[in-house]
Formats: sequence, structure tokens, C-alpha cells
Amino acid sequence: MESVRTLDGIGVGNRAVRAEVLRWSARKSLPAMAKSSLGIEVEVNALSMAIANLENQYAAKIKSASNQELREILEAQCAFVTDPELADMAKDFYEQGWDAPSGLQLAMGEFKSLLEGAGGEFGERVADLDEIVYRLIQWMSGESDETVLPTSGSFIIVADDLTAMDTIAFSDVVVGVVSKGGGPTSHTAIVCRSRGISAVVACSGADELVNGQMVVIDPDASQVIINGVLEDTAVDWWAGRSSLGAPVIQVMANVGSVADATKVQGADGVGLLRTELFFLDHKIAPTRAQQMKIYEQVLVAGPDGEIIVRTLDAGSDKPIAFLGLGREENPALGVRGQRVAAIAPQFFEDQLHAIKAAADSVRATGKKIEVSVMAPMIATVEEAEKFSKAARAAGFKRVGIMIEIPAITQVISQLKGVVDFLSIGTNDLSQYLFAADRVNSGVAALLNPWQPALLSLLQSIAIDSAKAGIKVGVCGEAASDPLLAVVMAGLGINSVSASPSSVAAVVDLLSRVDASEALEVANSARRANNPRDAKAGAKAALIEI
Ligand code: PEP
Ligand code: MG
Repeated sequence: MESVRTLDGIGVGNRAVRAEVLRWSARKSLPAMAKSSLGIEVEVNALSMAIANLENQYAAKIKSASNQELREILEAQCAFVTDPELADMAKDFYEQGWDAPSGLQLAMGEFKSLLEGAGGEFGERVADLDEIVYRLIQWMSGESDETVLPTSGSFIIVADDLTAMDTIAFSDVVVGVVSKGGGPTSHTAIVCRSRGISAVVACSGADELVNGQMVVIDPDASQVIINGVLEDTAVDWWAGRSSLGAPVIQVMANVGSVADATKVQGADGVGLLRTELFFLDHKIAPTRAQQMKIYEQVLVAGPDGEIIVRTLDAGSDKPIAFLGLGREENPALGVRGQRVAAIAPQFFEDQLHAIKAAADSVRATGKKIEVSVMAPMIATVEEAEKFSKAARAAGFKRVGIMIEIPAITQVISQLKGVVDFLSIGTNDLSQYLFAADRVNSGVAALLNPWQPALLSLLQSIAIDSAKAGIKVGVCGEAASDPLLAVVMAGLGINSVSASPSSVAAVVDLLSRVDASEALEVANSARRANNPRDAKAGAKAALIEI
């Protein structure tokens, strides 16, 4: 019998699966740079035909996208493809004598730095742009490398990393994914989570896996088990526990678009409305009236209850062209989040008033919503005071801040009387706590939300918030993991806000534990020395209770 071996990564999902490995074809290398022998017009034409073709491909894929997350990623990519600036830049290179693929590659290089200069670092979006170049050049050379999946059987796709275009081709034969790259907030993780596909991302040993090999993906253990045995797959492992009624802590939903808002079901409200996502492709600042219209639409489409609207979180991995933020050496440590209010005071002022006006007009229709605002990336009590004052002046009764920067976790007692609630953004809090770039898959293991240091910090934030009499929730991607949500409840967190596609599972598990059980589960996780043991300890404790 072959020996059992394990490969570590970061687990996504909560159901173990066993299936045959199918390696996702490695990309062919791009053609070498070459000068044109055909002339500018032919090259310009070749690019515009390739763009038109890819636009059509995107339109078809967007139409058949099985869920909103995927659709939005594809729409954002399609906007890059059809951006006239890309074609214009390529034309400059055709005028210098380059052929169509070479001019495109040179232009995309410039395009990347132009957008970086607009205020953000790309991170995962660089992979999107590389994908676009690859697909355009494939079309120009008359090739297609769409991997064709078998029509029957069960497979675990193994790849270096996957783009949104890749994952759209997944049919029901795909039961699992292993990626060498990608972190807990990568496209691969988000798409797999929303489609209920178990995955292990940031699995550095993925190269060892070969076609036809039988492997188990155990997302709870964050492991790929070569020659492993699967115990139970049919239902969620916690299905044997009976429901106690309502979830032990409140569950809300994260929303970034009108379509997201429509999808929210079973949540108590919206714990995080990311407003910057409405403006990623705006080159001109929206007016107060334009903003109000957008917020109204999303409030109408969303659930009743408390709706926490986050003011613009621009900069770093979220470039907003109209702000004209300069290029920075370290954008994640630069002018981002609430810091942008200092250089774009008019937008900030307009945004607060537009949110308030939208809230009032939607409430006037009888919809039972309570809209509050919170600021991203707050580092000091002074910043919190400034935001709170501005928000209250705009008419808000409840004002909060995000806890994403370690410095603010040290002065929570001083926030008493300043803000009404806190919302922990574990995506950024992990990034700054571990000094690990959230868009660099090379350091993704540090960003595993089960890291003991993060759990410990969540606990001390919960304790300090309770002492200060301030409610605290978690709205980072970590809150979409049902077991981790139980741990959070046990650590003293008052609410979680999950992605719409994860709300049902989070509510389900949180409804099967009481406060003392959640505490026991959290204590087991807290005793561990590494993320894998933390998750395994939490699961074992919950099974035992
Ligand atoms: C976070 O940082 O955890 C968060 C929710 O904010 P975002 O992911 O939008 O930066
Ligand atoms: Mg954040």
C-alpha cells in the first residue's frame, strides 16, 4: 500500500473531498518580441479584432457565470480589455514598428504602471491583466488553450493559480481545487467558497501532484492528503448537532454591489457595504446626487435591519482613478482608507451626505433599515474623533470604525464615547499584524486566519471593547468560515459579517452552539501553536461537546 503523505496550505470550505488529480494545463510561453513586417494598419487591426473577440468571449462567460462574485470579476476584466487607453497605447508601439503581440505586451506593461500611478498596487489584478494579454495573443496566433474537462467522474483541479476565466469552465465534475499560489482572499479562494468547491490554496507542495493520483482535500485541516481515505462527505460534518434556534451571535452580510445586496438572505442586515467597489472604474468623481442614487439602489435591494456603510476605502489594492493619488513606494502603508479624506475632502463630505440622504429617502418608503457609517483604516483615536464628528454632523446617530491597523487595538478604551461600534477587518489586520502583503501569495501562509496570534488579538480586542461598552463585529473574509465564526463568538465577538454566499452555512453552524460551547471551541483553538492545529482543535472540540 502506498504511504500517506500530506501537503499543507490554507483550506477553503468545510467539506473534505476525495477525487482524482487533474492538472490544469500550464500556459504556453508568449511569443518572443518581434518587429512587424506587415505595417501599422495590419497590426492595429489584428489587435482590435482580438479585443472584439475577447469581449464577446467575456460577454458569453459573464452571461453563464454561476454566481455574482465570478460575474463581477469577469466584468472588471472585460472593462480592462475594452479600455480604449490600452488600444491607444499599443498603437504607439505599432508606430515604432512592433508587431501586434509585442505592442500589446509593451502597452500592457505601461498600462499596469499607469494604473499603479493612479494610486494602487495591483496584487491579484496583475494576474488578471496577464490573463488578458495571454488570451488576446492566443487569439491572434489562432490558438485556443481552453482546457476541456471530462464530462463524467470527479476531479480535483491542481494549478499554479487560477484566474476567474479558468474557474468559469468548471462543471460539476470539479469537486476540489488545489492551487500553489493564491491566498485566503485570492480570486481562487473567493470563487471556490462561493461555489461550494473545497480547496487548499497557497499549497507550496502542489507541484508534487500528478494526473490520475487519488487525493483527499481536507479544508478543515488545510491539507491535501496523498493516498488518503475519506471518512464522510455527504453532509456538513456538524449536521448531527441539533439546532438551538437563533445563531449564538448576530450574522450580517458583506455587500459590494446592488446584485450582492439582492442576494442577501438569512442575514440580520449588512455588516459591511464596501462603497469603493462602485467607483473602481470611475475616471471622474461622482457628484453627491450620483452617489445618492447608487446608495439608494443598494439600500432598496438589500435586506432590512442595520446597514453599515463603509466610507470610501481607496488606495493600495483598490485604485480609484478620479482621486489622482500619486504613485507610492509602499501603497499599503501609504495614503489609503480614511487617510484619503484629507486629500479629497469634498468627496468625503459629499459621500457622508449622499449616504444620509439615500438612507432617509429609502426609510421614507417604509423600508425598515437603520443606516450607520464606519471609516476604514483608522490608526489613532484622533482620526476616529474626526470621523465621528463629521459623520454626526451629517446626521448619523451610530458611527463606527474598522479595526484593521494594530495601533488602534492598543487604545480601544479611549474610543468610549467616540464611536458606537467597531468592525474588525481581518484581511488588513492580518496583513499589518504579520507584515505580510495580502496580495502576495508568497507570504499567504502567514495570512491564514487561524493563526494563533490573530485569534489572540481578536480576543483582546473583544475584551477591551466589552470593557469600553462598545459592540465589536468581524467583517473580514475570515468571518465567512462557519467554524471560525464559532471561535469568534467564543472569543467575545458580538457579530460576524460574511459574504452573501456563506451566510447560510455560518448561520447554520452558529445556530447549533450555545455561548458556553462556543467558548470551549475558542479555548481549544487558542491553545494551538499553529493555524492547522487551531482549526483541528476547534473542530475536535465541537465534535466532542
Ligand atoms: C478587511 O480588511 O478585512 C476588510 C473587510 O476590508 P477590505 O477587505 O475591503 O480591505
Ligand atoms: Mg480592509
